[in-house]
Amino acid sequence: MRRTLQTFNCAENQWNTPQYSVSTPLELENLLANAEALHLSGVWQNPNLREFFFHQLIEELQTNKSKLQVITCKESSLNAVRFNAEFERMIQQIRLYSVEGKHWSEFEDCADLPDRKLIKKYLPIGPVVVFGASNFPLAYGTLGGDTIGALAVGCPVLVKGHPLHAGTSYFLAELVAQCVEKLCLPYGLFGHVMDDQYQLAQLLVRDNRVKAGAFTGSEQGGKTLHTLAQQRDEPMPFFAEMGSINPVIVLPKAKCIDTHISRLVGAMTQDAGQFCTKPGLICYPESEASPFLSAFIKAIRQATFFPMLHPSIVEKYLNRLQEIEDAGIEVTKYSNGKAWHGVVAFADMTIHEFLRIKPLHHEVFGPFTCLVRYKDQEDLLGIWPKIHGQLTTTFIGQDPEASTFYTVASLNCGRIIHNQVPTGVMVTRAMQHGGPFPASSDARFSSVGEASLMRFLRPITVQKCDKH
Ligand code: NAP
Repeated sequence: MRRTLQTFNCAENQWNTPQYSVSTPLELENLLANAEALHLSGVWQNPNLREFFFHQLIEELQTNKSKLQVITCKESSLNAVRFNAEFERMIQQIRLYSVEGKHWSEFEDCADLPDRKLIKKYLPIGPVVVFGASNFPLAYGTLGGDTIGALAVGCPVLVKGHPLHAGTSYFLAELVAQCVEKLCLPYGLFGHVMDDQYQLAQLLVRDNRVKAGAFTGSEQGGKTLHTLAQQRDEPMPFFAEMGSINPVIVLPKAKCIDTHISRLVGAMTQDAGQFCTKPGLICYPESEASPFLSAFIKAIRQATFFPMLHPSIVEKYLNRLQEIEDAGIEVTKYSNGKAWHGVVAFADMTIHEFLRIKPLHHEVFGPFTCLVRYKDQEDLLGIWPKIHGQLTTTFIGQDPEASTFYTVASLNCGRIIHNQVPTGVMVTRAMQHGGPFPASSDARFSSVGEASLMRFLRPITVQKCDKH
């Protein structure tokens, strides 16, 4: 009998009733064969066909928005405000990437030489496998940036749906199937499988018909799948976007510090801190410890509590807090007492304690941040060898670029923020979302914005000679 799985509603503390089928290796085989056949046929390289598809997809999504909202909110516990923001971002990505994909299909770089003409073009790399993260069921999910970016440049896509939002994933896959049916498009352009035991994910990454992987999720998952991709007979690029601590450096004598602290606490606790860009480490001058801490505690006491995505995420989060406590660090916790809601927590320590305690050097996924007192900026230089690459680094205070620490910070992250919070990743050409390992597996690329499509293209030069 076919195995099924269920999703959980943390806001209501109950299992959702639908049972979702886990896919079989045979189904996977059919999807892979269709994707490869489509890629080799060249049909999906037609930008007009893709434009036609994206237009229909937006229509289906908008028509079915309220049904999608019911499913997504029940299984992710994200509220209507967040659903709307993600939904709009999903639509925006489809519109932007559709135009960008067309641009790359038509792009040519030419060199007219005396005896020949060289024309450089960009081709789709081939079938792409996509893994989305639990915390963004729409923007980084089944029809999120990776899927749309790969489709937009002409790659067939195979999605391994996230089991924590299986209903959303199946529903979105069904909308794609309807578009394909209505427009008589080839089935191979999009395939969807569901699994919660890694088997199909690993089969997909190992299969030589897949030519690239795009992953958003944990460092552990990203690293495992990246290693598998490199161990194949035919290694392939595997773009893993993973977690980050996102250090914040509060410079001495920063103005309006209470406002900054309140915004930082908002970014740390919003949606139970389940963001890859959540500020997880805040370094502040020891000489200003007293006013800083009282403003921080005041802000955190006013924080809103949110349900987390799933009991398994709650369990992992609480285990991480325990690990920090077991290492001898006091963790201050605030709870609203409701099941599966994020316990808001922080720990305050000297920089020497921080450097010594290993569990603090990796992302804690949830509403926790580590406060670290520093004496002078030289102190801060010791942090990077411990925490490595980051998605973001934030500076609060006047003239961050004059800080001795700024160059080191910029060499170790993908985005530097002055006097704002790191959450909120805008979808635009100027966005860099990624960073040196472990923030991502390849810091040369962004997973957000038009530039993200470059991950799914490969160049080819056509050399022509008219004299023969
Ligand atoms: P996750 O547990 O790594 O899961 C992501 C996907 O990868 C799931 O489909 C999962 O399958 C699969 N997977 C994980 N480990 C695997 C393995 N060893 N073999 C095969 N498949 C594997 O991550 P998550 O809990 O969903 O998401 C939270 C994490 O994502 C956080 O660390 C957050 O910072 C990060 N994130 C990063 C970004 C970014 O842009 N950098 C954005 C959002 C979130 P199963 O579900 O079946 O386990």
